[in-house]
Amino acid sequence: MRIAMIGTGYVGLVSGACFADFGHRVCCVDKDASKIDGLNAGVMPIWEPGLEAIVKANAERGRLTFTTDLASAVESAEAVFIAVGTPARRGDGHADLTFVFEAVRELAKFIKRGTAVVTKSTVPVGTGDRIEQILKEEGVTEVSVASNPEFLREGAAIADFKHPDRIVVGAEDDRAQEVLREIYRPLFLNRAPILITGRRTAELTKYAANAFLAVKISFINEIADLCEAVDADVQDVARGIGLDNRIGPKFLHAGPGYGGSCFPKDTLALLQTADAAGVDQRIVRTTVQVNDDRKAQMVERVSKALGGSVSGKRIGVLGLAFKPNTDDMREAPSIPLIEALVERGAAVSSFDPVAREQAEKIFSGIEFANDAYAAAEGADALVIVTEWDEFRALDLERIAESLRGKVLVDLRNVYDRSEAEEAGLTYYGVGRCRTGPPAS
Ligand code: NAD
Repeated sequence: MRIAMIGTGYVGLVSGACFADFGHRVCCVDKDASKIDGLNAGVMPIWEPGLEAIVKANAERGRLTFTTDLASAVESAEAVFIAVGTPARRGDGHADLTFVFEAVRELAKFIKRGTAVVTKSTVPVGTGDRIEQILKEEGVTEVSVASNPEFLREGAAIADFKHPDRIVVGAEDDRAQEVLREIYRPLFLNRAPILITGRRTAELTKYAANAFLAVKISFINEIADLCEAVDADVQDVARGIGLDNRIGPKFLHAGPGYGGSCFPKDTLALLQTADAAGVDQRIVRTTVQVNDDRKAQMVERVSKALGGSVSGKRIGVLGLAFKPNTDDMREAPSIPLIEALVERGAAVSSFDPVAREQAEKIFSGIEFANDAYAAAEGADALVIVTEWDEFRALDLERIAESLRGKVLVDLRNVYDRSEAEEAGLTYYGVGRCRTGPPAS
């Protein structure tokens, strides 16, 4: 198949590279010329494990190309995927579809009959209908418009794309279904489940999935607060409930609240869709509130660990990206925490294995250390914000020696109280027993 991928961000680039790896001929288009120049020179615009190898291999085979010239990509394509950003609109949280509709108007000039236009971007219910209407306004007929929402996770994007839990296709006609079946055929051979449904249902499925995962996170965070109040251990509660197949163990890690480029904006957009439909979604609404409050409260935990104030204190922060294995800083829990620390008069020394370049665009007046021990040097407290693997096996005695204040605030429950205390640290986890777990 010949595929045009419009938008070469996390989703567009990973999808484009993986489709090329399946054997399709993919042309990735972006209006950001520096991104395309970089890709043509072999420089990845994002940090994603395994991406560079798959991009280079397929570019060398001639199956994956990059351009800013939409016409050349679209004219020869049998399927045009739209993978541009759909950020939250300022003010109301509605999904901003400006990039999507701009892309549709542009591609309308070059698209040929019979082509399938497929939204991979996360878009509200009814966006496919609107795209069809725009294409008609531009004089384009006899093209199919389908929805194929993407469920990959940053940090594990290639593996997720190649071994998806499911593929969701929303199509209103046989042609679109046929094209998408052909594109994903290599995955059907691996028995990846495919759900073929209506376009509006597919659009809503993506929001429902992200909202449900956000609910799970906020739920366990509230249970963690309760654990702290009654001296119970949230790790064990999560395991105890997660072993129930109806619940499942994933997304039950108490922490500083969810961030990233998807959950915050997608929960808000779902609420906008619900409001427009006149149907309240109280669970999702509360989840958003719980998460916003939680992120704002993290500074209080650090403050409490330091006796009630961070003013004049030096705080080491480990992990800036919104989660491990990415340099994506969008809505990262580190942002409100560090901003509040600085606002309250603390000095911050941070370290992240890959997100420094992105973080430097966001924070001013904080230090960027070269490793975890350097971030801890002379600090009154060390706070683990993102659970990168390299923070899981720190030499805690060395950390204790580097620190001035011997306080470890572990917002990801990477360590046990007992091991931290043995190293001479005062330990504060999230939802952990005051005395540590009972000896087994
Ligand atoms: P991104 O911001 O990383 O990339 C979007 C790209 O589109 C940018 O490079 C931008 O320059 C380009 N672009 C915008 N308008 C264009 C146009 N008219 N022509 C060509 N290029 C254009 O975004 P992303 O994180 O890849 O997300 C894209 C969509 O996928 C969003 O709707 C998002 O919600 C969804 N999604 C994201 C993830 C994720 O983990 N990032 C996962 C699943 C779904």
